[in-house]
Amino acid sequence: MSERRKPAGDSTRAVHAGERDPQRDSLTTPIFQTSTYVFRDQAEVIDFQEGRLERDEYGRYGNPTWRAVEGKLAELDRGEEAVLFASGMCAATTLFLALLPRGGHLITTSDCYRRTRQFTREYLTKLEVETTVIEPADISKLEAALRDDTALFFTESPTNPYLRVIDVAETARVCHARGAQVVIDTTLASPVNVTPLAEGADIVIYSGTKYVGGHNDLMAGVAIGSGESIDRVRKAVGVLGGVLDPHAAWLLLRGAKTLALRMERHNQNGQRVAEWLEAHPKVRRVWYPGLASHPDHEVARRTMRGFGGLVTFEVDTDFEGACRFVDACTVPQIGPSLGGVESLIELPATMSYWDQPREERYALGITDSLVRLALGIEDTDDLIADLEQALSQV
Ligand code: PLP
Repeated sequence: MSERRKPAGDSTRAVHAGERDPQRDSLTTPIFQTSTYVFRDQAEVIDFQEGRLERDEYGRYGNPTWRAVEGKLAELDRGEEAVLFASGMCAATTLFLALLPRGGHLITTSDCYRRTRQFTREYLTKLEVETTVIEPADISKLEAALRDDTALFFTESPTNPYLRVIDVAETARVCHARGAQVVIDTTLASPVNVTPLAEGADIVIYSGTKYVGGHNDLMAGVAIGSGESIDRVRKAVGVLGGVLDPHAAWLLLRGAKTLALRMERHNQNGQRVAEWLEAHPKVRRVWYPGLASHPDHEVARRTMRGFGGLVTFEVDTDFEGACRFVDACTVPQIGPSLGGVESLIELPATMSYWDQPREERYALGITDSLVRLALGIEDTDDLIADLEQALSQV
């Protein structure tokens, strides 16, 4: 966009930022479905290699469609630069490998997407990276865990599935005092609801598969931060190779344009359904940052512009009753993931925690009747009516 039309609001940023290559007149950004870029002659190759010419060379290092998406997402998150990955997991693993020194120290949280924890345990240990796991949203535990060799504190905010919300400014103050960088995974919020870079975080990552893609039809990941830190991560992408296909990048670009509009409905559905569930006699407990009963409600109110579409709750029943409830839902479909237009529902016990021994699962708070409801953008009243009839089956 030209300086004159510099976007201010999230919807304007989402629609226009990163688009309109001045060399082309198309309103929308084309898909550059190519793996390689050709040179006119050796002089051009040498100019490129010596940095006198900025252009693309090979699909693992750059693509014009990616650049449009990266520009848009960097603006939405108030960062200098963004880099794309093949999935949210690829963003986390590439970032860890790029930024953690051999034998370094990492701090993560107990409530966390399970595969991220698995990566630290099964793969980072091969590089002798030591990981300390602390309870989320607890500054005193973080202060106690920080060491002189701590390179990174990595946390989701909100966390998955208990939606714990981090006080980013305080976290950054404590970590920076000990020389550690702060990386926040905002998958469950989207840049419309939180912008941790503006509060002092060093890098934001998230799964573009969720809210930003928004249509349950692509896999993508992104990291956003200063030009210097993203440059280090981008170089690692070129070596590790987890690049986003140009067509998926274009779908992400298209999805991102309606992000702010969709988030309004996700936030509305999340708040109204959480309040309704909390008042329901067959629901034992609800976790949603927009509820006064949530342990981090005050931090969430101060730092979030909306609380998202994910609601976690425990039905007042046993495993069989919880299965009957989920099976009876007709609007939310049974499936993992979140952030798309279609509502999805799952029992973490039968989905991502199925292969974990029951005692370990219980220790993480994943009980037999815990439900994760990822609300889409359907009409709130239809969702509530459907949940009402499904709860009557318990
Ligand atoms: N981070 C969080 C908080 C998630 O919930 C997920 C997936 O559910 C991921 C990262 C991984 O994203 P992806 O599925 O795009 O690899």
